[in-house]
Order: sequence, then C-alpha cells, then structure tokens
Amino acid sequence: MNMTTPVLDSRTADIPDRRYFLQTLLEHAVHAQEHNQKLALLLIRLDRFEYINAIYGYESANILVYEIFCRIKAMLRAEDYLAHTGEGEFGLLIPNVLNAGHVLLAINKIQRDLGKYVDINGDELSLKVTIGASLFPEQASSPSSLMQQADLALITAIETEQRHTIFTEKLMQNVASEWGMADEIENGYYNDEFFLCYQPKIELKNGLPYGVEALMRWRSPSRGLVPPDQFIPVAEESGHINEMTWWALNTALREAQAWPVELWGNLSIAVNVSAKMLHHPEFVDSVLSAVSIWGNANALTIEVTESALMLDQERSFKALGQLKDAGIHISIDDFGTGYSSLSYFRDIPADELKIDMSFVKNMLANQTDAHIVNTVIDMAHRFGLLVVAEGIENQQTYNALREVECDFGQGYLMGKPLRHEELIAWINNHDPLQFSH
Ligand code: C2E
Ligand code: CA
Ligand code: CA
Repeated sequence: MNMTTPVLDSRTADIPDRRYFLQTLLEHAVHAQEHNQKLALLLIRLDRFEYINAIYGYESANILVYEIFCRIKAMLRAEDYLAHTGEGEFGLLIPNVLNAGHVLLAINKIQRDLGKYVDINGDELSLKVTIGASLFPEQASSPSSLMQQADLALITAIETEQRHTIFTEKLMQNVASEWGMADEIENGYYNDEFFLCYQPKIELKNGLPYGVEALMRWRSPSRGLVPPDQFIPVAEESGHINEMTWWALNTALREAQAWPVELWGNLSIAVNVSAKMLHHPEFVDSVLSAVSIWGNANALTIEVTESALMLDQERSFKALGQLKDAGIHISIDDFGTGYSSLSYFRDIPADELKIDMSFVKNMLANQTDAHIVNTVIDMAHRFGLLVVAEGIENQQTYNALREVECDFGQGYLMGKPLRHEELIAWINNHDPLQFSH
C-alpha cells in the first residue's frame, strides 16, 4: 500500500494537517476495501481548546498541539495514521480493526494514557479529550461519510457530555429526530400546541393545598402528547427554551388570576426554569417584568434544579438572590442528586428544597434513602428552608414523611398534574382530612 509520507506543517513542525489526512483516508479506504478489512476513524478533540488559545495565545496552543500529537503518536502502531485535522482536533486512522469493541479499546487506551496534565507556560493544565469514532465499511459506505459520521459522533459526545461516542445508525436516527423536533417545537410554539398542567402541593400536617407547580405539555399533531423530558432538552439545545419559559411564566401568572380568590388565598404558583435560562443574562429582568405585569411577585415560586445551580454556582446564586430580594420564592428541585456541602446549605438563596422523587419512592424499602430524606429535612430546617417531597404515591409514604416533619408534599396520591379547569374542580372537591387524618 502506498502510505502517505508525513508532510511538514509550517505551524506545528512535523504534523500532517487535514488535507493529508483526507488523502490518506482515501488510500486507507481503498486498501481496506481491497483486503476486506475494517478501518476506524477517530476524531480526538481537546476540551476547552478555544480557551487555551485565547488565554495562552497562539504560540503556546501550537506547542500544546505538538505535545498531544507526540503523546498520542507514542501509543500507536506503525500502520496507524495521525494528523492535526482542526483547531485542537486530531484525526486518527486505525486500519484492520475487528469491530466496535476493538475501537473502544483504542479509545480507552488514548484517554487513559494521554496523561492528566500538561504544562503550558509553567501552568499545569488538566487535560481531557473527547472522541468520536466511526467504522468503514461497517457504518460508512464512503470515506467522506466516514468522516461525517465520526464528526457527528464527536459532536454528540460533546453535547451529551460523554467522553466518547461511536457512530451507529441509531445515533443518526436520534439526531435526525431531534433536528426535526426542534423545528416542530418552534412551529408548535407559534401554533399554540403547548399548554400548562398544574399539580397541587399539599401541606402534609393538615392536608391543605399551599400551591401548585406548572408543568409544560406539548400536544404535537404528528407525535401526539410528547413528555417534557423529551422536548425540554431539545428546546434547551435549540434555544427555544427562552421563549417557552417566558410563555410558561406569563401563562401561569395569567391563569392564576382566574382562580377564585376565596379558595386560593395566597397559593403559590411554581414555574420550572432550566439551566440555560437561569444563566441567561436577561433572566432576572424577564422574571421581574412578568411579575410586574401580573402584579403578584409573592405568589411566584421559581423552581431550579440543584444540578443547574451547581453548573455555575456563583452566577446562579447571584441571579436567585436578586429574585428572592424582590419577594419571589426560590425552590431547589431534584434535591439530593447534585453535590451539596454544608456551606452550600448555609448560602443557598432559596426558600424550599424539593427532595428528588427517587429517594421518596424508595424510602420505605431502602434504609439509605430513608436516611437521606431524614438528613435533608433536618439540615434544611436548621438553615430555615422548607422541604417538599415529590412523588408521593401512597398513604404510607405520606405518613412516613409527615412523621419526619417534611413540610409539603406532591404526588399522584393527592393530585396528578391537571388542566386549569380541572384544577379548580379538584380544589373545590378536595378534602384536607382525606390524607392527613
Ligand atoms: P420536575 O420538575 O421534577 O417535575 C416533577 C415530575 O414528576 C412531573 O413530570 C410530574 O408529573 C411527575 N410526578 C409528580 N408526582 C408524581 C408521582 O407521584 N409519581 C410519578 N411517577 N411522577 C410524578 P412531568 O410533568 O413529566 O415533567 C418532567 C420534567 O420536565 C419536570 O420534572 C421538569 O424537569 C421538566 N419540565 C416540565 N415542565 C417544564 C417547564 O415548564 N420548564 C422546564 N424548564 N422544565 C419543565
Ligand atoms: Ca419541578
Ligand atoms: Ca423534581
């Protein structure tokens, strides 16, 4: 086989670049086809390379590329081919692989043996790479589609925060379905296909409703009723989540105006806000302007997940602190699934914690989960926070939570998410003693 001689690249001494990589890919593909072999293409991208470039400059970034190139090269066999295919990205061709398992071994080896740190201008930087891979001719039918598939696998790995992804047909279908879904969400938003349901939150000791949580629903003409766990991540990815949250916030506050005052008194209305929205520069202003339109800041609760908060703790705490100062209540959702420390409890700008459903569901059967529930309630109370347990599905769990002085509860036992009109009927028929007897 006619192997390509590495050609000097002016920036990084003796590293072949993308042009030579594509040329070699073509030759390897022909060879693989002629000898009935499989060829793997790996795209290896340095995490945060743009930042390194911006902070340390072009020269240092080039030295880093050279260093990584040498480290990967040292792990390879003579017949493997490595090139610098893009900004902080390396292409690797591994001829004569057996199957995807074989490729996974190579990926693991690179990620394990690359080293944890690299020295740049005397700074020790932690080093991480994300890898996308595809196989020829198993997955791709041509060299160019092999490159596209590895690219898609790499993008998927980065977006889903996995360290590596190997291309499969299923991945392609998922990506295509998500792309289609993003457009449909946009159309659906303008065609009024979204609506809110409200799930009651109950005070456990007396069974009285103290608020509701607004949960988004999407009735798509082609897909039917799509669960929020499916469309919210796509809307986050495509950026539509901003308009949709804005819509949910205003719709919930508007619909609440129609609730009979004598029944509702000061019921709180909770709206979920996802990570992207929380970190949006206009987030605080948009919430404040919504409550100024509807005039009930004290009735509003913003629910943010613990993990969204932890993504950028400083910024999250600042934004939530501003809302709290304006009288809006803050609730930390899915609590227990993130990484909380004692100091976190002390500083958290919140009014309530919602214990994640997974602990509540298992608390009767599992000692550890019961212990976590108890500890969260105890700690939260010490720091002046109220506690909501979500996912209460039976009376025993309700009783156990009331026993350990959990303040509020939400769950199918007391009420499922309901349409606005159904909610009013629910509240009229609700008997507080039914569960709290
Ligand atoms: P979440 O905020 O933790 O909402 C609680 C979920 O648990 C809801 O699912 C609710 O219907 C369900 N649930 C409540 N009680 C029970 C129970 O007793 N048993 C069981 N098995 N489930 C119960 P839903 O409505 O499908 O929402 C799922 C997630 O989607 C929400 O989790 C939230 O993260 C997200 N979501 C929903 N609406 C919105 C929204 O308007 N904006 C944003 N950003 N996210 C939303
Ligand atoms: Ca929630
Ligand atoms: Ca939750």
